Amino acid sequence: MDYHHHTNNSIDSKAVMQEVCEQAITKGIKEICFTEHYSVNPDAPTYGHMDFAIYQQDIKDSQASYGDRLTIKMGIELCEPHLMMDVYEKELSSIPFDFIMGSVHNIGNQKLRLHLRANQDTFYDDYFAEMYKLVSDANIDVLAHIDLMKRYAVQEGHEVYVFEQYKDQIAAVLEKAIQRGIGIEINTSGLRSSLGEALPTPQIVSLYHDLGGKILTLGSDSHKAETVGAGIKEAAQIAKQCGFTHIYQFDKREPKAVSLS
Ligand SMILES: [Zn+2]
Ligand SMILES: [Zn+2]
Repeated sequence: MDYHHHTNNSIDSKAVMQEVCEQAITKGIKEICFTEHYSVNPDAPTYGHMDFAIYQQDIKDSQASYGDRLTIKMGIELCEPHLMMDVYEKELSSIPFDFIMGSVHNIGNQKLRLHLRANQDTFYDDYFAEMYKLVSDANIDVLAHIDLMKRYAVQEGHEVYVFEQYKDQIAAVLEKAIQRGIGIEINTSGLRSSLGEALPTPQIVSLYHDLGGKILTLGSDSHKAETVGAGIKEAAQIAKQCGFTHIYQFDKREPKAVSLS
């Protein structure tokens, strides 16, 4: 299963949904959940791209063409869903999503890269603090790529953070997620980049497990048909090594455990 994929319904992807589905079938993937970018904040780069009528039609058409070979779910990846919550609620409540992910892509209306450049000493703290606010308030199913800031840090010449140094902040995020019934994902996009590791790092996945976390999804965060499912086997290995026996799928936002064996 690949529970994080983008198409041209997202501002930063040109992938055609039907082509993604064809590639997924070729690769033996059984289920895909599309998770397009969406923001209600006019200052967010993602704002204004999504047309839900087109997205829902793409899902319907893909299900009609490939539904006998591939289970196709309709999800969404929200930018900062803890902010402007009333607007999110208004825009999303009538759409029958299977799965809603929440992401911190911006801090204080600044993209993460720009925030990092302006806050060289505090950017990791700021990022995890924003993640805590998100998980405390947002109406979501899963937290996307928990330690995303490391991608920008490495690109900007900084180090990947030292887990022990941020363990308390990260544990607070995970405890709040567990308390609110929110899961986390293993996002394999970092395995395809110079970063060379998944998001989050396995130490976070282990900590989540040890704190009692159960809901875990695996996603490639692929923006191209060719990379659908990339790294999912590695992610399943990480999940197992961290103590998980199950991952989760979602149907109309209801989580369901699937055995990893
Ligand atoms: Zn994202
Ligand atoms: Zn994504």
